[in-house]
Parts: sequence; structure tokens; C-alpha cells
Amino acid sequence: MTIAYNKRTHYCGDLRASDADKIVLLSGWVNTARDHGGMTFVDLRDHTGITQLRFNPDHAVDAHKTARTLHNEDVITVTGKVVSRGEWVNPKLPTGEIEIEVDGVQVLSHADPLPFQVNDDFDANEDLCLKYRFLHLRRPEVQEKLRLRNRIGQAIREYFVENGFVDIETPFLTKSTPEGARDYLVPSRVRPGSFYALPQSPQIFKQLLMIAGFDRYAQIVRCFRDEDLRADRQPEFTQLDMEMAFVQADDVMAMVEGCVQRIFKYAMDIDIPVPFPRISEAESLERYGIDRPDMRFGMELQDVTDLVRDTEFKVFRGAIDAGGVVKCLVAEGGDQLTRKITDGLTNEIKGIGGSGLPIVKVLEGDNGVEFATGIAKFIQPLASELCKQVGAKPGDTIFFMPGTFADVCKYLHFVRTRLADILDLIPPNQWNLLWVVDFTMLEWDEEEKRFFAKHHPFTAPLDEDIPLLDTDPAKVRAKAYDLVLNGTEMAGGSIRIHQRDIQEKVFAILGMSKEEATEKFEFLLEGLRYGAPPHGGIAFGFDRWAMELSHSESLREVIAFPKTQRAVCPLTDAPGNVAQAQLDELFLSIKPLPKK
Ligand code: ASP
Repeated sequence: MTIAYNKRTHYCGDLRASDADKIVLLSGWVNTARDHGGMTFVDLRDHTGITQLRFNPDHAVDAHKTARTLHNEDVITVTGKVVSRGEWVNPKLPTGEIEIEVDGVQVLSHADPLPFQVNDDFDANEDLCLKYRFLHLRRPEVQEKLRLRNRIGQAIREYFVENGFVDIETPFLTKSTPEGARDYLVPSRVRPGSFYALPQSPQIFKQLLMIAGFDRYAQIVRCFRDEDLRADRQPEFTQLDMEMAFVQADDVMAMVEGCVQRIFKYAMDIDIPVPFPRISEAESLERYGIDRPDMRFGMELQDVTDLVRDTEFKVFRGAIDAGGVVKCLVAEGGDQLTRKITDGLTNEIKGIGGSGLPIVKVLEGDNGVEFATGIAKFIQPLASELCKQVGAKPGDTIFFMPGTFADVCKYLHFVRTRLADILDLIPPNQWNLLWVVDFTMLEWDEEEKRFFAKHHPFTAPLDEDIPLLDTDPAKVRAKAYDLVLNGTEMAGGSIRIHQRDIQEKVFAILGMSKEEATEKFEFLLEGLRYGAPPHGGIAFGFDRWAMELSHSESLREVIAFPKTQRAVCPLTDAPGNVAQAQLDELFLSIKPLPKK
């Protein structure tokens, strides 16, 4: 029997009790096939759901014969009548009140035995899932992540069109861009020995589009960075990139807030209040030890340097005498923080380069509070004053960290994050959005003995800090802003330098000679010569938004065909070898690999 599979009357998730007696035509994949002696049941699946098919030999003998040969993931099309399941309702399925009494079936495509089952959520090894990603993506919960991603994209595109933005494509075969990661290079055949760089972002092009007078630009665009990969990085990733002319930081931030509101509403039906709170980089470091604070829970870092300045405790004294600080955080929930846990944390701190994690437990004493365990005996005299200052009470544990400001930030941020996990401090389903602003513009690199741009070299200094460019560049703050969601940086941008002389000065502070600046960024410097409007923008990590909003643990879950942590695509086996003839055409030869 030939059935016109392109004439589907319904999808597999559509039919309800009210459809009883309709003659329907469905197509999809065999999710399961169960041969019950006389009767065969098949769960038919498509992208909308599952419908149960009943093959009854007394009703349609040929269809039943075919049904008995079906395997999981065969592709079939069927016709039949919608009938009630009577008392055999399956409350787990939206279509669970009905089934199809099949009249005819056609097998459109057979499936071989599968490397893993689609119809369960048993987690096969990730490489196998990625090698057979087309099968993995058949799982509804896996597919839903890409559908959510699509909804986010749609919300963004609509929002920017409504707000007068123009979507303009920028080149992939280009020159090195300024984000500071390693470039992916593409050899040129027509200019042997020269290379294109794949863009790390369209940064310079979007600035040139503002100079070109487009006023507002937004693009969802692929970017490429050859970095060592972690769970939350991919060598190619997608940004929502935007830029606006004649704006100040507040204008860009307000535009972004509207966009984020739209994303949450459209993609998840969640109302997000605006404006988002703002915190300076300095305050964020002071209170949370990091420039992307997770404010879903408290447990802030507290400075006790002055209080412990006169203590005899060598570890604290040493840090303070060397110009460092002593900070602490107070964890409630004494019972949960067993010795095993605190020792474990100490080891973890050592694992990331620290030398230890002094702690005390706060107890009820004869005259108020007293300290126990850890470093209690060294700082016992300070117990009541210290507890008063940091708000600690009996039952709490205090974690200290002495050292340079940067080290204390690093280690206490680590402890704070780990404790949030151990003590289960993060309330579920919270979307904590905030801006981090007033970043310092430059970062000193002790090894290279030079400044690096914290964002990128086109970020404008605060107007009042411009004189500091000549006198104390380390102090210059930037018109930069990062958007943080639940402790993750989700977007970063800035107002840009639009005067050529300031841009040249910043290049010089970054240790770039005039020749180097011209060689790398002449096209931008030229642009700045012929009338550049003040402008600024931002880029969102689009994959990261999809990852956070879908509660995924890795970017790979929200990318259709991702790379592994070794930057390999298990599906296509890229990167791969090329033929000698291709290398010859490019005048390239491959050096032998160094011996290990
Ligand atoms: N191009 C920057 C980045 O990719 C973002 C921006 O400044 O707009 O990080």
C-alpha cells in the first residue's frame, strides 16, 4: 500500500479525545514497537510528540504483518482511525487518551541497529553522542535546547528590527581582530605565504559601520578563537553583536535591558524587572572577590586587616607586612561543615595555588563567643570583636584568607562558590542580572612588563580619567560594562574611542609602536580620520544565553554540531588531513611533529 506521506493530516503530538473517529495520516519514527502476541503496538514519534498506533490483525492483516517487522527508528507513515483508549489512558502522554487503529502502513526507511537508543535518556558516552549527533538530537529534551536557542534568536532579531537596527554581515576572511586570543588562520592561495585570520569578533567592522553612518547595527554572528577549551568555551561560537552611534553607556545598557526582557518573555514567559542593578568593578572585587558576582546569595567577603593587624599570628602578620590584606567570609550552618569538608576545601585551595585556608568555628563561650579548631588558639583574644565586626554567631564557621588583594579575591571567591554548593545556598529558578561598570581600562602583565587592554584597545576611558593616560595609566577607568547573570558574564561592551589621537595614545600605552599600530589597525585609524561619531556597543555570548536559560552544563548542549574539548568534531572528524596537491597549491609544507 502506498501512502502519500507528504499529506500528513496531523503531527504525532496533536490528537486528543475530541478527535475520535477522524481518519488521519501520520508520519514519523518508531519510538518503540511492542508485539503483544495478537496485537502490535507502536509508539510513533515526531518533533511534536508521540502517538500510539494499534495494529490489529483482525482489522488490517497486511499492516499488522509489516508492524511485526519494525525496529526502533524505522521511518513509517500510517493511516487509520483515531479511537479512544478507553480505560487504558496513558496520563504521561498528551495524546494518551487516544490511539490510531491502523489501516495501512508504509515503511519509508529502515534503521540499522542503533549505536545507542533514542527512546531513553541513558547517557551514552559523549563522544558517541556527538559522532551520532543526528540521533542524539532526535531526543526531545536534547532537541528542545536548540528550539529554545531558536526562540532566543527570534526574540533578539525582532527586538532589534523594531528598534531600527540594521543586520549587516561582516567578513569571515579578514585580518587579526583585537580580542587578544589566538587566531584561526586561513592560508591564501592567490597570495602565497599570506593568511587571513578568522574574526574573533566583528569589532572593527561594526565601528566602521558607525563611521559609515548606519547609526544602529546588530548581527548574530559566528566568531572564532583558538583558545584552550573548557566546558564553557567553543572554538567557534556565536555572538549577538551590536553597535550604536551618538550614544553613551546608559543608552546601550538600556537597549540591552529591553532585549534581555524580551528574551526572557518570549523564550521562557518570564518577566524580568529593569533596570538591572549596577556595581563597580572595585566594589564587586571588594565584596565578592570577582568581577562577575553571583548575588543570588550573600556570604560576602569582609576585610579584617585592621582588626588583626596587631596579632602575633605569623601568617596574618606576614601578609599584612608585605602590603597585603586579610579577609574572611562567614558561613552559617556549622554542623554541615565537618572537618572532612573543611580539610577538603583546604586541599582544593592548595590545588589552585594557595597555601592554605585558615578557619575557626564560633562557639558560645562563658563571656560571649569563643573560637575553636583551626587557628583558634592564635586569634582567641579577638573573638568577640571579630565576631561583632563580621556578624558571626555561635555555630558559624569563619574562613580567612591572608595575602595580596588579588590572591585573596581569587581564593575567597573560590571558597564562596564552593560553600554555596556545599551548603545549598542558591535558591532555584532565580535570574540575577546586574551590570558591572567602571572597570579599570588596563591590566599590568608582570611577565611581559606591559599593559594589556582589559576589554579591547578601542574601549574609551572615562572623560575625567583622560589626563591619567599620561600620568598614571593603571588608574584609568573605562566606559565599559559587563552584563552578569547568576555569576556568569553574559555580555561585554563599551563606548569606543572615536578620536584618532586618543586611540593612538592608547596603542602606545599598550606598547604598540606606531608602525605596529598602523600595520594592524590602519583601516580603523583611517576611519577615525574622516569624521567618526561617538559610538559604543556590546556583544552577547549567544550560546551562553542558550546554555544558561536551558539549564545546560556545557555549551555543547546548545550547539547543533559542537566540538569536543580537544576542538575536534567527532561527527565529521574535523580537523583532518588534506591532500599534498592542496598544500602545494598553497605553497605550504608540514613540518614533522616534534618527538615527545
Ligand atoms: N567585541 C567585543 C567582544 O567580542 C564586544 C564589544 O566590545 O562589543 O568581546
